[in-house]
Amino acid sequence: MQVEFDEDTCIGMYQCVAEWDAFSKDKSAGKAVLEGGEEKEEGMFVREVPDDAELDAKFAARTCPVDAIAIYDDDGEQLIP
Ligand code: SF4
Repeated sequence: MQVEFDEDTCIGMYQCVAEWDAFSKDKSAGKAVLEGGEEKEEGMFVREVPDDAELDAKFAARTCPVDAIAIYDDDGEQLIP
């Protein structure tokens, strides 16, 4: 499972931070930070989701009010949003 975080879309509401500890707050930027995320294109960060964090990652994606977090299965199929 993979997570993709769109920093440009993020509006810093930080609900994701409460759901999964891979997300932290960058209050000066008003954005979340995806720890361990690799920037695959400008402002778009991706990383693997560990097996034991899949539920947390899904909750983080579902709770984001602007759909800045997307979840993909191992076949590249988008599960959320
Ligand atoms: S919940 Fe969405 S808008 Fe809020 S900080 Fe996380 S990614 Fe950004």
